[in-house]
Amino acid sequence: MSLKVWIDGRLIDKADAKISVYDHGLLYGDGVFEGIRIYHGKVFEAEAHLRRLFDSAKAIRLTIPYTAAQLKAAVDETAKANHFTDCYVRLVVTRGSGYLGLSPTKCPTPAVFIITDTIELYPKELYEKGMAVITASIIRNHPNALSPRIKSLNYLNNILAKIEASDAGVPEAIMLNHDGNVAECTADNLFIVRGGVVQTPTTHDGILEGVTREVILTLCKRLSIPCQERTLQRHDLYIADECFLTGTGAEVVPVTKIDGRQIAQGEPGPITRRLIEAFRRYIKESAEG
Ligand code: PMP
Repeated sequence: MSLKVWIDGRLIDKADAKISVYDHGLLYGDGVFEGIRIYHGKVFEAEAHLRRLFDSAKAIRLTIPYTAAQLKAAVDETAKANHFTDCYVRLVVTRGSGYLGLSPTKCPTPAVFIITDTIELYPKELYEKGMAVITASIIRNHPNALSPRIKSLNYLNNILAKIEASDAGVPEAIMLNHDGNVAECTADNLFIVRGGVVQTPTTHDGILEGVTREVILTLCKRLSIPCQERTLQRHDLYIADECFLTGTGAEVVPVTKIDGRQIAQGEPGPITRRLIEAFRRYIKESAEG
């Protein structure tokens, strides 16, 4: 059976799910999106994802022609049409189709589409063994150019960082910000543990405010694990006791080597393991609740 893709209210076979070559999402990366997961038939952290989508759209002056409730219903409808109870969801809003030329005023109607599919960002065994990463030379967007808090269709510098990772023979790259401090990975947020304290860059260090990151901060509080949002330098990574990445696609993945430096004993640390366990339980509780 062919996968169905939701495009502006219609469920269309994957092979026929097409967007115009005049769409400014394609021509200029003019649009916003969300990556969401459905676990056990329920959209995970739906409210947080939809809030971020509407915030991103507002920041780029794009009016989404649906309410959050309508989009949530559309996500549910798409997953159901594809008989998914567990899947990844890509919800995209582009400026829509217009003329050549940048001006969005010539794009009367935003295009909205929803893909539901499976995703595996990193090989399964790395979740047990831990992953090696590098720091990339390409930096994250300057917040006064395009705020990294906007989840926009412009991922080119992240893609270039990902290519650097691939050239170095590792699956992921850490990106610094314009001040040279640690921001995040190409599609994941970053955490370290040092002296029992979980630490992650602040939202003002040039990061996307990840939904998974927020869940991890909540879980730290619940488990009484000290946690801090603070500016981190590359040196903090090298001397960390533990490191892990978080994201909707990645979930929680341990990091055991950074720029050739082994992190701790070279295997996922105890706090990382505890948080991975807690994250699994949280997913289950959310689906049941
Ligand atoms: N940073 C970037 C640049 C991302 O694209 C993402 C989403 N894949 C994340 C962090 C993680 O955010 P979330 O937990 O909301 O998926």
